[in-house]
Amino acid sequence: MHTLPKTPLMFLAAGCGLLAALVGAALLPRLTESDQLPPVGAAPLQASMVKPVSIAATAPPPPPGVPERFRGRIFTGAALPDDQKVVALTFDDGPMPGATPQILEILRREQVPATFFCVGAMIAEHPELLRAVAADGHVIANHTWSHSYRRLGPAAAAAEVKRTSDLIYRTTGRRDTLFRPPGGILSNGPARQAARQGYALVLWTVVSGDTFRGVTGPRMVERVVRQVQPGGVVLMHDGGGRHPTVGALNAIIVGLRKRGYRFVTVPELLALEEERLPAAQVGTATRNLVAAALSESAGRRSQPALPDVRGRLKDAGR
Ligand SMILES: [Zn+2]
Repeated sequence: MHTLPKTPLMFLAAGCGLLAALVGAALLPRLTESDQLPPVGAAPLQASMVKPVSIAATAPPPPPGVPERFRGRIFTGAALPDDQKVVALTFDDGPMPGATPQILEILRREQVPATFFCVGAMIAEHPELLRAVAADGHVIANHTWSHSYRRLGPAAAAAEVKRTSDLIYRTTGRRDTLFRPPGGILSNGPARQAARQGYALVLWTVVSGDTFRGVTGPRMVERVVRQVQPGGVVLMHDGGGRHPTVGALNAIIVGLRKRGYRFVTVPELLALEEERLPAAQVGTATRNLVAAALSESAGRRSQPALPDVRGRLKDAGR
């Protein structure tokens, strides 16, 4: 495949239904078998224990590392007090040559940890870039295999998540625990399947605007530095096109530090939110995916709905 930045994702998005349908049937049985192992310390494995009754009846156990209250829920950011100035930078749609290595270099130089929501098809093309992300200690998260906005059936949607997860594991030896739906769309299948598999569904509090038409680096910097609040999650991109992100990143880091912020990963943000909240209380910035999806079912659409996401964020008080 050639290297025009936007082309692979557009192509894959267009062909996603077929691709997902093809892989879905093959991957689903493995998904249920591998994810239904009993916890460590349980009775020894027996053949009957690793055969799930049905994925439709029983969701597999969540991956490790996500606090219980965030599993299967939507997380936009932590509602931290004003003096707890932490923020998580996130990069979507990579890994991609021409952006990911440059972003890694800046993050390394500035000692800033980040969270990368990676597309499986991009990992397949650039596994060495994903290994570089892992080697620098950043968090690697799941952003589906093909970045499709189309509505997918349960098997195809589950395969979008599982196939990417398997490739992350085979490439880096790491298990992913966080999922971000392409376009922030919660109602077209993959988000629901990720929730069923125990992922935390991570959206954002600040849209950097790096994918907006005609956006400039200075405009992006101004936008991010002005809008970040304690516990915020910033949406940026290392994949998908020629964005001003690489050129703007250093000034974003400097600007946020001037405002007193330090940088954390999304799992660190979840841990801070977990510490802050009383036991048994669900965070103000998290909502049950099923309820959210049901409330949106009347307005199903096949295209990304960023304005809707902003509306949801406003609803969530962010
Ligand atoms: Zn994306």
